[in-house]
Amino acid sequence: RSHWYVCSYDYRVSTTLRCTTNKKLDLSVFCFYLVFHFLTSLVWRRFYSLQLIFDLLDIMKCNSKKSVVIVGGGLVGSLSACMFAKNQYEVNLYEAREDIRNSGLSEGKSINLALSVRGREALRRIGLEDKLLAHGIPMRARMIHGQNGKLREIPYDPVHNQCIYSVSRKFLNEILLTELEQYPDCNIYFQHKLINLDVNSGNVTFYRTEDNSETKITDNQLIIGADGAYSGVRKCLMKQSMFNYSQTYIEHGYMELCIPPSEDNEVCL
Ligand SMILES: Cc1cc2nc3c(=O)[nH]c(=O)nc-3n(C[C@H](O)[C@H](O)[C@H](O)COP(=O)(O)OP(=O)(O)OC[C@H]3O[C@@H](n4cnc5c(N)ncnc54)[C@H](O)[C@@H]3O)c2cc1C
Repeated sequence: RSHWYVCSYDYRVSTTLRCTTNKKLDLSVFCFYLVFHFLTSLVWRRFYSLQLIFDLLDIMKCNSKKSVVIVGGGLVGSLSACMFAKNQYEVNLYEAREDIRNSGLSEGKSINLALSVRGREALRRIGLEDKLLAHGIPMRARMIHGQNGKLREIPYDPVHNQCIYSVSRKFLNEILLTELEQYPDCNIYFQHKLINLDVNSGNVTFYRTEDNSETKITDNQLIIGADGAYSGVRKCLMKQSMFNYSQTYIEHGYMELCIPPSEDNEVCL
């Protein structure tokens, strides 16, 4: 009997190992355990079938791959998708727009992003930091243009002289999507706009702009809302009772200025 429990314990250990290392439980090891179980039960004239079934269920549960649905393929969606994929999840990412890699300028936000240490850390974790930095423009200081025409620099890091990097938002988004495609079990669905999310059932419905149809994905275990400022996921969550929500706008507006150089190629600010 004690032998059996050792065996059963081994099951759990292997199951736990499988869960933590995310490696598939080897079929031969699994068969060995089955035979071993059977033989020991014969020796001890007992067959703990119930326990065995529980163990099998445990193993099957652990062997079924975890999956995630990510709504929105912007910066947060594509980055988190890579993180999940790296952790062996099956990832299904749904993006309302068409594939930005096949389109021209990205709509709306054209400004470059200033990538700081936090963004770099996130990219490092999926092995993309160097690729981004090679493309980025280092920015060591902020330039203040006085009304009298005087210039004054404010360094971002006067102590260690570190810098932030100006990177193209589109480029960043593109390499994140391309990186995601390198992982197995990852699917990106463009032109799929979330129109409904049922929190209780885990069902999500998308409107396919390609052919004006709707598609419903049912029984999702985990759904990530990464669909930006006017999040459709959040709107659906707001229909739940006790869900608090507030939104405030900054007082000043936002404007992008394009100031071309002078005829002799001087800065005209
Ligand atoms: C002008 C400006 C300058 C900024 N500068 C910086 C900076 O320098 N550094 C910095 O770190 N951050 C900066 N930010 C903030 C940064 O841009 C945001 O934090 C970041 O874009 C948020 O990413 P996101 O993926 O959540 O949203 P988004 O980038 O907006 O992506 C959301 C995605 O979801 C998709 N989507 C929307 N609705 C649906 C739907 N119903 N179904 C499916 N998909 C949907 C959209 O098409 C989009 O692709 C700036 C923001 C702005 C506006």
